[in-house]
Amino acid sequence: MEASQVGDIEELIIELIERVAGEIGLVIYSMGIKEEFTDEQIAEELKVEINEVRKALFSLYELGLAKYRRIKDDDTGWMEYHWRIEYEREREVLIKELQRTKEKLEEKLKIEDTSVYYICLNGCIKASYEESMEYGFICPKCGGNLEYLDSSKALEDIKREIEKIDKIIKSI
Ligand SMILES: [Zn+2]
Repeated sequence: MEASQVGDIEELIIELIERVAGEIGLVIYSMGIKEEFTDEQIAEELKVEINEVRKALFSLYELGLAKYRRIKDDDTGWMEYHWRIEYEREREVLIKELQRTKEKLEEKLKIEDTSVYYICLNGCIKASYEESMEYGFICPKCGGNLEYLDSSKALEDIKREIEKIDKIIKSI
């Protein structure tokens, strides 16, 4: 694996964590704690609300990058969460996420590929061919002409994006 690709992967995982678990999630992940910890410990260390820490940790859990055990505190009767970040699953989670993105793009490609659109050049509407026929190819909002939308460039962009994801998946 080339150094530049490693950089890409790091960047992607950071992007993903920040998007799903927010800034706090990213900070927790970046702390690199290999042992178990409680949300109280992290809240204290970062000086943030425990609810925010918990929320971020559950987001990491949903992403597949954290797990927890619940232990009942005999003194207080409260449930304590003991967390562990699963750094070893990073690669797997990233691939899964990239594949999901790819599927969405392929879905979009299919829809775009078979549809013809007309748009108002003033940006009011985007209409199907049938709708545009009904409007007489005149924008119902501003009265401007509806013009055929050349989607070939958009399609090329999507295809390139898919190729890029394929390349990244192969390199991980
Ligand atoms: Zn218009």
